[in-house]
Amino acid sequence: MPFKDPEHKREYDKAYSKIWRLVNKEHKRYTDAIWEAEHRHQRLNSSRERQARYRQERPEEIRAIARARYAANPEKYKAAARAWRKSHPEYVKSRKLSDRARANLLSRMRYALDPNKTLSYYHKRRAIKSGSAGNNYTAVEIAKLFELQKRRCAMCSAVISNVAKSAQKYHIDHVISIASWPTYGGKKRFGVNDIRNIQLLCRICNLKKGSKPILMPKRKG
Ligand SMILES: [Zn+2]
Repeated sequence: MPFKDPEHKREYDKAYSKIWRLVNKEHKRYTDAIWEAEHRHQRLNSSRERQARYRQERPEEIRAIARARYAANPEKYKAAARAWRKSHPEYVKSRKLSDRARANLLSRMRYALDPNKTLSYYHKRRAIKSGSAGNNYTAVEIAKLFELQKRRCAMCSAVISNVAKSAQKYHIDHVISIASWPTYGGKKRFGVNDIRNIQLLCRICNLKKGSKPILMPKRKG
């Protein structure tokens, strides 16, 4: 369409592109979503990498910015630091300890926060050490097994607990031990370190059992 008046052409173009956008809005939303899905990972990665590179290349600059922020409002940062120290007394205490004592304290804290996670880590490490195959198990799987066993010991049906400090706290037991290679039926066998080979026992049964492979029918609930 020829335009004699440039102003007219501008208006026409504007109206046209507005209509075009409306018509294509749905299509654009669709293609944008596809693009986003395909590039999201890449975009996150690249911005993360950019940030890491920035931190690495200009440590002085970053420190200067932090210093300037602090100088502009020291009370705010002091209060934040006080609040953090107050809510993390164990960490504050740990700063005054030797490396070993600090490591012990931190691992006790980690255990208190999530005993199952610590135990699964410990068993995984032992499984790697002893060379037995199999996967790790998760805290969620243990929690499910606990319910599956109706909160009772797989051997003697005594009530067991999932509370960290309880005297009835369950013991995570490998049905077939992964620490040793027990032989039975003339075959060398060793247990896998995953939930299929786990049963929850009371303390007494766990001590009695040792590394003997005993699968209790109770395990299946
Ligand atoms: Zn028991």
